[in-house]
Amino acid sequence: MVAAQVAGKNGAATHSAMDRYVERVGLGDVWEKVRAGARLSYDDGVRLYESQEVTAIGYMANFVREQRHGDLAYFVRNQHINYTNICAKDCKFCSFYAKKKNGPKAYELDVDAIRQRVRQYRDVPITEIHMVGGINPRLPYQYYLDIVRAIKEERPNATVKAFTMIELQQIARVAEKPLREVILELMDHGLGALPGGGAEVLTPRVHEELYKKKLDWRDWLDTARVAHSVGLKSNATMLYGHIETLPERVEHFVRLRELQDETQGFLTFIPLSFDPQNTELSHVARSTGADDLKTIAIARLMLDNFPHVKAFWMMITPPVAQFALRYGADDIDGTIMNYEITHVIDPSTRQSLSMEQLLAMIREAGRVPVERDALYNVVHRWDVEAPPAPRTTALPVLS
Ligand code: SF4
Repeated sequence: MVAAQVAGKNGAATHSAMDRYVERVGLGDVWEKVRAGARLSYDDGVRLYESQEVTAIGYMANFVREQRHGDLAYFVRNQHINYTNICAKDCKFCSFYAKKKNGPKAYELDVDAIRQRVRQYRDVPITEIHMVGGINPRLPYQYYLDIVRAIKEERPNATVKAFTMIELQQIARVAEKPLREVILELMDHGLGALPGGGAEVLTPRVHEELYKKKLDWRDWLDTARVAHSVGLKSNATMLYGHIETLPERVEHFVRLRELQDETQGFLTFIPLSFDPQNTELSHVARSTGADDLKTIAIARLMLDNFPHVKAFWMMITPPVAQFALRYGADDIDGTIMNYEITHVIDPSTRQSLSMEQLLAMIREAGRVPVERDALYNVVHRWDVEAPPAPRTTALPVLS
């Protein structure tokens, strides 16, 4: 928050003091590039990660964020559905999947069950259904078409944002059709966007060590390229805080940035802080708040062609997400009904935030809440109609 207090709106009022500060900590040349709107290099990104000056990095990222979005902070009223947790990919960082179809925690939702999930929140004006699942070899092509259509029938006005790149490849495999054709058919049934998950860290070493049965970096980007080429927008994630090096995170940014130059198909970058609980990497310590903020800030600086950077409160906690709105992020995701990917083991840790809690979070951070849909169309600005409400319950702190 120090950066925000010093920076003020658009950083204009106290530039000279901040200039001296950023120069004093050895980042003056990077700051010059940022102010000039010049692209940061891979080496710049590595230097930022090597620097301990989180406040200076956040200050620069906040400058970019406010140039693009002013005081606006986006959120969405959304629902998450995970249609199956049965998966054949054995990713070492995953606590979600069940290996055996008859194991105690394995499940597959049929079309009716998915309809029921959607109907559960019929009275909430949800605009996005986010749906992903494991790579379950038993599911036929028709199943994927049917579940997308069922959601669209239940919620005609919501965007169905579904399937990671590896899921798309699996669907094409069982369909025995080219990927492009399958994506177009899914779109015909109601698919409206891709969540962009499963990118992990786009480097050969991390792929080989942690998720070698899934797509490698080239295949992930190629799949995104095909989806973007038929007009489907996606996000892009990065799962950080496990075995990756800091330069590998920068490599990830550069690879995403190159594809975005080509397709302009990414909407949002979403850094996901790794939760080691109940994974094969349970010995790994969780990322710190400083690392979370620094990663969001460096992403904002490196991904100069991405419209949005998200602080996913579910992963970094609501308090850190509030700070992130001053460190480069302009989005905090949304209400998130039924999130299971990282909290499936202990149902008591499932979390959602009410609309009032989201508004309070954003206002406390000094930003203007804007409700958006999955494609960033503005649903409602909450600065005029609703004055800040006093919060009577504490924000949840996630385990
Ligand atoms: S991360 Fe996805 S693909 Fe990997 S094991 Fe988990 S559910 Fe399967």
